[in-house]
Amino acid sequence: MISVCVLDPDRQPLDPCHPARARQLLDAGRAAVFRRFPFTIILHDRTRAASMVHAHRLKIDPGSKTSGLAIVQGPRVIWAAELTHRGQRIKAALETRRAIRRGRRQRQMRYRQPRFLNRTRPVGWLPPSLQSRVCNLMTWVERLARLCPITALSQELVRFDMQLMQHAEISGVQYQQGELAGYEVREYLLEKWHRTCAYCGATEVPLEVEHIVPKVRGGSNRVSNLALACVPCNQKKGARSAAEFGFPQVQAQARRPLHDAAAVNATRWGLSQALHATGLPVETGTGGRTKYNRTRLGIEKSHWADAACVGASTPDPLRVAGIRPLGIRAMGHGTRQMCRVDAHGFPKTHRARQKHYGGMQTGDIVQAVVPTGKYAGTWISRVVVKARGWFDLVIHGKKASVHQRHCTRLWAADGYTYALPAVAGTAVSSPR
Ligand SMILES: [Zn+2]
Repeated sequence: MISVCVLDPDRQPLDPCHPARARQLLDAGRAAVFRRFPFTIILHDRTRAASMVHAHRLKIDPGSKTSGLAIVQGPRVIWAAELTHRGQRIKAALETRRAIRRGRRQRQMRYRQPRFLNRTRPVGWLPPSLQSRVCNLMTWVERLARLCPITALSQELVRFDMQLMQHAEISGVQYQQGELAGYEVREYLLEKWHRTCAYCGATEVPLEVEHIVPKVRGGSNRVSNLALACVPCNQKKGARSAAEFGFPQVQAQARRPLHDAAAVNATRWGLSQALHATGLPVETGTGGRTKYNRTRLGIEKSHWADAACVGASTPDPLRVAGIRPLGIRAMGHGTRQMCRVDAHGFPKTHRARQKHYGGMQTGDIVQAVVPTGKYAGTWISRVVVKARGWFDLVIHGKKASVHQRHCTRLWAADGYTYALPAVAGTAVSSPR
């Protein structure tokens, strides 16, 4: 369950309400459906001035494949979503385009002077695959800010806090008690040692924080004396130093500090600047803090739960029971490539001139009422339109061909597709 957004007659956001309350309002004719994703109703009879509106905080955990979004009001998470990006697909498409162009130029059908270093990139430029992640998140921040009274933002900016580690004296007792500094150090070490055992290179195994020069031999608790080791290596090493254990390079690597740049990547930095430009107060947190909060609050790991646990503002306790996040997947707005080529780069087909067929376009969510045949029944699905009039739908997880005359558009394509029923009882067959 996630709350339903509520607007007043002037489209000003009010406090979101429980889906059952929204149903009552809709049944009583006091409201109408405004949007399906996220599900939003518009009230006919109550203005924002006459309502009590609370402060809501939108929290973001940016990820490379999937980002988490959560709206927190008081001690509760009231809305959550998981946004799947399309960075890899953008990268693949650009690489294909580059290969086609290169092939065409190699063919020497015409001569053009090669261009070299004749382009300047604006300040803050990001590669398209990374920029799309920032743009996806900003689309949703702006969209949610119009539908819900959001007064503050939180973002996980860095994985760990270098300042905290350099200036706080870190003691062994603190890790064992699960103090915040311990989480920061662990995130730092995971990054520095690439999530592998420093000695045998094992991955995907439980890793322990380990002293390179053991404490019994006078080794310190500073991060420069810490490495990650799998349990067998840690036990085998015992009271020896890394050099005595046969790994002098581990000792040498440990002395080299990680640069701050390693902790904050370009995407998160770009997002942070875009969030500040909204004018809302932005709180930033570290990955160490997120994990510390989530563990302390006893919340299971997921993208949206991480988002809800970002930053120092996280309330204790935080109520998350019953939250089912809205699944959002970035799909793009189709292609602008005019000429499709085959595997050898030979022109195959021209792009269709028309994007709409029967008033629908690829990416719309449609309701299909099929009277007879293999797919008889009522279906809701994302659609791929075809000139012949037979559209591709997803029925029972498989591609199905349904004629356009059976389809009615419910939702116009907006570059995203959604995986959760917007209203209970409506099964959106999972679009791919
Ligand atoms: Zn090992």
